[in-house]
Amino acid sequence: ACRHYQESGEFAPGLEEQVDGALASLEEWMDSRYGSPEQPLLVSVRSGAPVSMPGMMDTVLNLGLNDSTVQGLGKRAGDERFAFDCYRRFLQMYGNVVLGVKPDEHGENPFELLLKERKAQRGVENDLDLDTADLKALVQQFREKLQAHTGKPFIEDPKEQLWGAIRAVFDSWDTPRATAYRRIHRLSNVGGTAVNVQAMVFGNLGSDCATGVAFTRDPGNGEKRFFGEYLLNAQGEDVVAGIRTPDPLTRAADDGGNSLEETMGDLYQELVGIYQKLETHYRDMQDLEFTIQKGKLYLLQTRNGKRTGQAAVRIAVDMVDEGLIDERTAVSRVDAESLVQLLAPTFSLQEKKDAIDEGRLLARGLCAGPGAATGRMVLSAEKAVDMVRNKNEKVILVRIETSPEDIAGMHISEGILTARGGLTSHAAVVARGMGKPCVVGCGDLEIDYSRKEFRVGDRVVKQGDPLSIDGTTGEVLLGTLPTSPSEVVQVLVDRSLDAKESDIFRGLQRLLEWADRYRKMQVRTNADQPADALAARAFGAEGIGLCRTEHMFFGGERIVAVREMILAEDEQQRRRALDKLLPMQREDFLGIFRAMEGLPVTVRLLDPPLHEFLPKDRAAIEKVAEEMKVPPERLSHKIEKLEELNPMLGHRGCRLGISFPEIYEVQVRAIFEAACELKAQGVDVQPEVMIPLVGTVEELRWLRDILEPVARQVMKEKGTEVPLSIGTMIEVPRAALVADGIARHADFFSFGTNDLTQMTYGYSRDDAGPFLADYLSEDKGILPADPFQSIDQEGVGALVRMGIERGRSVRGDLKIGVCGEHGGEPHSVAFFHDVGLDYVSCSPYRVPIARLAAAQQALASEPKKKK
Ligand code: PEP
Ligand code: MG
Repeated sequence: ACRHYQESGEFAPGLEEQVDGALASLEEWMDSRYGSPEQPLLVSVRSGAPVSMPGMMDTVLNLGLNDSTVQGLGKRAGDERFAFDCYRRFLQMYGNVVLGVKPDEHGENPFELLLKERKAQRGVENDLDLDTADLKALVQQFREKLQAHTGKPFIEDPKEQLWGAIRAVFDSWDTPRATAYRRIHRLSNVGGTAVNVQAMVFGNLGSDCATGVAFTRDPGNGEKRFFGEYLLNAQGEDVVAGIRTPDPLTRAADDGGNSLEETMGDLYQELVGIYQKLETHYRDMQDLEFTIQKGKLYLLQTRNGKRTGQAAVRIAVDMVDEGLIDERTAVSRVDAESLVQLLAPTFSLQEKKDAIDEGRLLARGLCAGPGAATGRMVLSAEKAVDMVRNKNEKVILVRIETSPEDIAGMHISEGILTARGGLTSHAAVVARGMGKPCVVGCGDLEIDYSRKEFRVGDRVVKQGDPLSIDGTTGEVLLGTLPTSPSEVVQVLVDRSLDAKESDIFRGLQRLLEWADRYRKMQVRTNADQPADALAARAFGAEGIGLCRTEHMFFGGERIVAVREMILAEDEQQRRRALDKLLPMQREDFLGIFRAMEGLPVTVRLLDPPLHEFLPKDRAAIEKVAEEMKVPPERLSHKIEKLEELNPMLGHRGCRLGISFPEIYEVQVRAIFEAACELKAQGVDVQPEVMIPLVGTVEELRWLRDILEPVARQVMKEKGTEVPLSIGTMIEVPRAALVADGIARHADFFSFGTNDLTQMTYGYSRDDAGPFLADYLSEDKGILPADPFQSIDQEGVGALVRMGIERGRSVRGDLKIGVCGEHGGEPHSVAFFHDVGLDYVSCSPYRVPIARLAAAQQALASEPKKKK
């Protein structure tokens, strides 16, 4: 029905009859009639997308009210005030959602303004202090407001109200905030929303009424405990909007006796029974909404709950242990990207304690999303976007409460802090979904948007000041704080924590072991230092897919020697520089090969974009000149000569090797000297030599012809044999086009999707930032995602497919991998699985993500078993 409506702007044929039929059943169940002045049934109209998008889509409540049904509702409930309270809420919601009444130029909702004025007139603070006469007067004012807005009296016919709301919910699929949410969460394939029409029940009919939200497990850490919040005598939106701070469902030491378990014990037990039933039925953690009307419990909604990465892993593993799901389901269910949160740093306890001792603790709020975040304080989503995109700053977004309009700003921030709201408020739910550290309900914050600051007591924090939040403990601290490694990193990399001490680590380890059973692709890492290689190995890397040798030269004295080599005036000078580099390179390779014992290590020969390596300031130029024994002026002149207009398309990669073959010769010598030395010590070494930036068959053939003999010569000198494998990167579009010819001279291919993306789009890797921001912006939307982050399957992907197909047409067993940044991004990993790569290679901290993503795609492409 939604698709029909989206395509034609009309309701599908037959829809009206079906809605009428279903409404009649509802009337029977509820023993009331929609539009009846005596026994009015009220309904709500809600969205129902296949994947929940909390707060993004529209809802209208209390439909069916008009000047006559409101009387019936009042009589039936025995409470006229209540009926008019519903009526004014209905007029406001219908006005905003369906009739398009917008906030005024100060951002104030005109209905809220009228309500505020009335309260001020009557000298009361709380909505509940307005009496029936006040509410009747407000209803009148709201109706006038609506008539002024639409030019017509407000719709009295409940059926017409209903269809207006159905239309609005369909339309809300395309609001900018819903579109932004789907883009961020990559839900582009989810086509449209259902519309649910539900009978209204009321949590605001007195003190035997309540409404609440619950999670069947803790959505923050995954602990198996019933978890949620409720408000007595309230409507659902009061809980979610975070305007009143709710009470817990389950008895807690500090709940002041206000938990549902204590105030309405029987109903609490009933709710527990229901949640257990729902979780067993759906076999997943549920997020429920319920209402208690005059002592009777109603469930309004259940859906699979949003959760942090940590919770996702724990829930999946626990549910396997409980026999609720199998291992495949567990592997498929955890969002691979969310593992970032298990590896993300936290504040070091000592540093935080010191900061607190120094009096930097500003306030405490509720822990809505775990993790530590530090950044500059901003008070609006727009400012957050501006600071990050244009000033390259990290930011913490601080709001009184967030609204769905803030979504882009939340996404770009390091962390989110709100003054109001509970653990189920919009900020909390959305932040958890994004894996952002988040603290909510921090009531001590007095936020003043107009002065661009907030106060806590007499302390003032101005927009732009550094701020830190700890979403695991709820603390808000002044200034920045150093962060420290997560438990997983402490166990695996730092080895400072015993695996037995960390539930988080053990859960992740089990999940990844299951993933390894199903994945078809190998996962390697990009590493050029032994420590990184060891970390990656601890994360499960099965080799190095890219060792960038130019990175081995960044530090200290080495950079001087490299500059000497680049700036050499002749071969002799270059050989002198290379003689200094050879022993250093050999040491580097000894370290890396040893760290990766028993696993393949792809060493890429030098590929320095020259501009990254040339000395820029006077001191550096003088230092290199001294080493080279040439006057600094001559060197400056040489640097000017070497300067390129398009360094990314310049004298780099194998072009350098062809101009100055001695550079690659020395590197190959260092690789094989190291390999032979280790082999002689009994270490299993598997070096693979990779030539970068090849675009023609001849480049590779020519280089192979001079490098292969060097390797053989070293082995002869050392009297040791190690496997000899020379392959190439496929990162220039032309290489993909002539991959069959290239494959005749290559033992393996590795797609360099960074350069391949750069050269396929013609977007400079160095200069694309500013215009990519425009291309990705909501209003322009030229690109669905940053192609340097997530592979462009259509264009760059076509070249990848072609390269594989042509390469393997010549060598059926050609080993092919990818080593661009895309190798650790789940959607790209899925694509690489589909096109038949042997491995992906990614940065060490993304290895677990790639392992899980590879398994998920392998499972998703298994042929479906017939039931
Ligand atoms: C690539 O281009 O994808 C690649 C891995 O090489 P680099 O990023 O070093 O250019
Ligand atoms: Mg490259």
